[in-house]
Amino acid sequence: MRNQRVGVLGAGIVGLTTALELQREFPSLQITLIADKFNNETTSSVAAGIFRPASSFEGISRDITSQWIQDSYYFYDGLCQSVDSSAAGVTQVSGYQFSSTSPEIVRNPYLEHLLPVYRSATEEELRLCPGNWLYGSFYTTLLTECYKFLPWALDRFKLSGGKVLKKIISSFSDVADYDVLINCFGMGARNLCSDYKLVPIRGQIIKVQAPWIKTFFYADYDTYVIPGSKAVTLGGCRQYESYDLSINPHDKAAIHERCVKLLPSLKNARVVADAVGLRPHRSTVRVETEIKDTGSEKIKIIHNYGHGGYGVTAAPGTAKYAVKLFRELHSAGLRNKL
Ligand SMILES: Cc1cc2nc3c(=O)[nH]c(=O)nc-3n(C[C@H](O)[C@H](O)[C@H](O)COP(=O)(O)OP(=O)(O)OC[C@H]3O[C@@H](n4cnc5c(N)ncnc54)[C@H](O)[C@@H]3O)c2cc1C
Repeated sequence: MRNQRVGVLGAGIVGLTTALELQREFPSLQITLIADKFNNETTSSVAAGIFRPASSFEGISRDITSQWIQDSYYFYDGLCQSVDSSAAGVTQVSGYQFSSTSPEIVRNPYLEHLLPVYRSATEEELRLCPGNWLYGSFYTTLLTECYKFLPWALDRFKLSGGKVLKKIISSFSDVADYDVLINCFGMGARNLCSDYKLVPIRGQIIKVQAPWIKTFFYADYDTYVIPGSKAVTLGGCRQYESYDLSINPHDKAAIHERCVKLLPSLKNARVVADAVGLRPHRSTVRVETEIKDTGSEKIKIIHNYGHGGYGVTAAPGTAKYAVKLFRELHSAGLRNKL
């Protein structure tokens, strides 16, 4: 594969984990990471970064999705236990999920047998927060803070010989000189692929100074409190097909009110930032190969996008799967040069 050129499109968590996995598996490939936004300009940087897929999160099949989740967990867990854990922003975090309506809400088939601790909350724990909490679970998971992970991964990619190109891409023909493209454009894939199944789910968060909060909490109506190394994230909302990237003061007030109701000690916590992001939602995450015939050329593309609200969670797993598709593409001899 020496001298073969691969373009990884996108520098969010999906593009970076894919580029690193490709480099690890095929050290002699010439890989270029192409994107118009990096680090704190991406949607990935808005995420609190908790490892927690929804039960509804789905890729090609349930079994393959479970494998993605497992592969991701072991990737982050390995990092968490390595000397790089602090630089990469990966830590362990424990907390509660409460519901006043249904026991199913506090269960998670992907996590129950994967995490080191996943159990029902005790009666005493259900009374930790104000509210009529009837069901609860307590678990220990991982947190990957993208303000650290993305620059760390980008540096690692460059140190291993990867190239970076800052550019807006309007069509695959703009990058047709690569032997294979791996499309990790997140919401950008909607226009690039005319994929109207990909829709934004808008989210807004508040970052506050509350260093006494060491435990995460999830509750009804998308309410969550997640402690990070610099600030605590308060969320949230899920607005389907909204493209609004501005901070909405009504959303902010509602998020603040719900979080303070759950944890009254947050009442006077100083607000340090507000952020909005568009989760790239697709009913099934798209990780598949496409040979695009433009008439004049055949462009080999491996898609890896549509992770919705779970891109930090699932990225290393879908990256591994995308690289497996790359290997299959090579073995099948579908390409002229590879
Ligand atoms: C409020 C909020 C909280 C969240 N919390 C969590 C969480 O706790 N855990 C979790 O797992 N997930 C969470 N998520 C979801 C997570 O942020 C996303 O799933 C993830 O960031 C998607 O990553 P991505 O790499 O696909 O996209 P992005 O981070 O958006 O990266 C896309 C990349 O493609 C580039 N690009 C796109 N189009 C073009 C173009 N035309 N030309 C050039 N470059 C282009 C961009 O510049 C960028 O580099 C949250 C999301 C939000 C909004």
